[in-house]
Amino acid sequence: MPIATRAFAATAADAPLAPYGFNRRDPGPDDVAIEIKFCGVCHSDLHVVKNDLGGTRYPIVPGHEIAGVVAAVGANVTRFKAGDRVGVGCMVDSCRTCAACLEGEEQYCAPGMTQTYGSADPKGAEVGQTITQGGYSDRITVDQNYVLRIPDSLPLDAAAPLLCAGITTYSPLKEWGVGPGSKVAVIGLGGLGHMAVKLAHAMGAEVTVLSTSDRKKADAERMGAKHFLINSDKAAMKAAGETFDLIINTVSATHEIASHVNLLARDGTMVMLGLTTEGLPVYAMPLLWRRRRIAGSLIGGIRETQEMLNFCAEHGLACDIEVIAPDQINEAYARMEKSDVRYRFVIDMGRLDRAA
Ligand code: NAP
Ligand code: ZN
Repeated sequence: MPIATRAFAATAADAPLAPYGFNRRDPGPDDVAIEIKFCGVCHSDLHVVKNDLGGTRYPIVPGHEIAGVVAAVGANVTRFKAGDRVGVGCMVDSCRTCAACLEGEEQYCAPGMTQTYGSADPKGAEVGQTITQGGYSDRITVDQNYVLRIPDSLPLDAAAPLLCAGITTYSPLKEWGVGPGSKVAVIGLGGLGHMAVKLAHAMGAEVTVLSTSDRKKADAERMGAKHFLINSDKAAMKAAGETFDLIINTVSATHEIASHVNLLARDGTMVMLGLTTEGLPVYAMPLLWRRRRIAGSLIGGIRETQEMLNFCAEHGLACDIEVIAPDQINEAYARMEKSDVRYRFVIDMGRLDRAA
């Protein structure tokens, strides 16, 4: 029996998201059927809806920060049972045989992971689906290997954005060995940025936020930042030169990065997380003169995502959220475009009725 699913979908790049119905597959032997309670709103959702990255196929149901409760499981599923609190992030499958998958870095799967929304959906044929559809919906069916356990101490609404914003910032902080004594800067205090601040602080780093205005200064300090710089303040930027071991760049739009490279200490790295599609000019001299690096990082693997959720539970960390009803999503997108996010919108899927 297909699972009737209610959702919010975009039908074109310039059309507002609107109520949409479709079918999910009934759980197969390895599947977990989930009742979605909350879904975070990532800036990537907006990029895909607006077709910023090209290739969006409509209608599209965005959402890859999914928190909910298990409704049913297939015969081979032993790790989850009905009623468990679970999450789903940016991927729902991968080839499982390439070197990346075998190393638990499924996000770098050589033939390509199956993204939670917008990917070809080989398992959707039985219910007439050709592409995967995401978490702005009340139901999802996912292979057990791509389902995360949400620790009991984390509220489902504030945990939902950890499934993308949390892991996307946790992974580079771990990869670049952040710990006590590290000096970390975070550019952009949005959904990703605010979790980068909290996580780096919890790992023992001294954290600096670089923001476009002073509007978020008090919040940054509350989250654990010791310093706060406005990135158009040339004198402050100069004074902070050669300081940071790691810069987490979360800016969601084309921006100037050359001046930020000068903030890196010798051997420092700037990790690009934002999905900016235009080239960002950098100059060789500031890089080679201090052996600096510019790198990228994409979400994180399933094992590391569970590790991040457990780390957040141990340290009492979750996201700062503004819970909205599904029919407020277009307004939330408009605010996100103005960087007016404190610090993640989370859709309450229990309020889908309001939109019917
Ligand atoms: P967000 O909540 O909208 O935050 C982005 C922040 O960037 C804004 O709050 C703002 O911070 C700053 N910003 C925006 N426009 C700017 C501009 N023109 N110049 C300078 N700063 C600007 O977005 P998010 O959800 O955190 O996502 C950030 C980016 O990461 C997006 O491009 C998203 O698609 C991407 N992403 C990548 C991955 C990955 O795996 N690599 C995963 C998830 C998301 P201030 O107000 O502090 O200036
Ligand atoms: Zn995301």
